[in-house]
Amino acid sequence: MSFLDSSPHPAAPVSAFTPEQVRSLVLPILEAEALPPIVQVGHPALRQQSLPFDGQLTSEELGALIDIMRQVMHNAPGVGLAAPQIGVPLRLAVLEDKFDVGPEAVAARSRHPLDFFAVVNPQYTATSGDYAEHYEGCLSVRGLQAVVKRAVDVQLDYFDVQGRQQKASFNGWQARIVQHETDHLNGTLYIDRCSIRSLCADSQYGQWAELGFDTARASLGF
Ligand code: ZN
Repeated sequence: MSFLDSSPHPAAPVSAFTPEQVRSLVLPILEAEALPPIVQVGHPALRQQSLPFDGQLTSEELGALIDIMRQVMHNAPGVGLAAPQIGVPLRLAVLEDKFDVGPEAVAARSRHPLDFFAVVNPQYTATSGDYAEHYEGCLSVRGLQAVVKRAVDVQLDYFDVQGRQQKASFNGWQARIVQHETDHLNGTLYIDRCSIRSLCADSQYGQWAELGFDTARASLGF
């Protein structure tokens, strides 16, 4: 596996869920009063290749599931959520970045607002030779952050919730979110791609946010 493309990790098994099993997993989520919990690393859905969506749910059920995923993402809060993060092994994700991060983060991370959108069966390709390293975290790996090298420019091929084929280009932090969420559908977590020596507990991360990336690299040896 290249660390910078969207191929599944060779060790990631393909989900063995039948369409009936997918439905019996999703329908109770749609009917529940409360939002589903975000599953944590060690849950098999996070380590398997999710199934392409091919009509396991009706369009109404798919729309309702996407709406729940959006609520879970807002509630967390986060900038993206993939279906495996609520234990559902389907290639679906929601993305949105409306956080007010201030001018420094905008400049340092090329972090610009991303309007909400949902993707079905997405696949990304790096479109330039440019890569960037930044600290990254995941709602399914609570309490940790690490530096991940990612493509700065990607093209995303996907289907929208109405089943229309779409193609879009993303840059900077938006491209990072696109890669992180698509990776989830292949059973890949950011910790598979990170500089492992950069791994930081949230309680330690504040100092590096303040002192800067170069100081973190020199002090931790990554
Ligand atoms: Zn994640």
